[in-house]
Amino acid sequence: MANPKLKSVTKSSQNSNVIVRRKPVAAVKTAYSLAEREEIFRRFSIQRPEPRGELEHTNPFTLVVAVALSAQATDAGVNKATRALFRIADTPQKMLDLGEEKVREYIKTIGLYRNKAKNVIALSQMLVDEFGGKVPETREELVRLPGVGRKTANVVLSMAFGQATMAVDTHIFRIANRIRLAPGKTPDEVEERLMKVVPKQYLYHAHHWLILHGRYTCKARRPECERCVIADICKSPEKSSDIPAPLVELPPQVIGEAVE
Ligand code: SF4
Repeated sequence: MANPKLKSVTKSSQNSNVIVRRKPVAAVKTAYSLAEREEIFRRFSIQRPEPRGELEHTNPFTLVVAVALSAQATDAGVNKATRALFRIADTPQKMLDLGEEKVREYIKTIGLYRNKAKNVIALSQMLVDEFGGKVPETREELVRLPGVGRKTANVVLSMAFGQATMAVDTHIFRIANRIRLAPGKTPDEVEERLMKVVPKQYLYHAHHWLILHGRYTCKARRPECERCVIADICKSPEKSSDIPAPLVELPPQVIGEAVE
């Protein structure tokens, strides 16, 4: 069946008809007008004026380690393990001095801890050898560190260096697609679209707002639309209420098990 997005144009030439296929028309990147997007994020900003990540850290290095350890683990679980670890090893050199075996002991309550301990030592070694013991400030350099992918790099750039990035985790990926704010098939696609559709003035905090909204309200199994402040704007076919929850500032977010 012909792809309806492809426009075909038939050109006559001397001996034959040549089919020229034009590139697909760019897909609509969001179901929301600019005014609607501004209203969505205005409400999020009132609910959570100073959103913060829930991973505990004391400097850019401990943040890199915490984020790398958090893959397939809850923030609360990582915090429990890193509190003691970071008290004695908060620089790459101190982590190397501690050694892989001891690091493993500290983080053994976290999933995939053997591999993660290996990565923590390897990334500490690289930071000492190639970056003078400092965490680099570019995505290209960050993703060279063992155990650091694009998502981790984005979190570090945002939280440690104040750059507006969009670290697409499971919550952001789900919300972007569920409410059709920035639908995409891969996290990279969603990241690229969100960077374009989130109004500039809200971009810096947007990833935290979306993560927290996904974790506590627009949950994976059943979104709690009756508690949602954007229920009247939301265009998700899954939503169960049109009445927005009262728009008030929430008490400081309780750190808890991520609800999946
Ligand atoms: S109305 Fe429901 S589906 Fe829409 S964003 Fe809120 S919780 Fe999610």
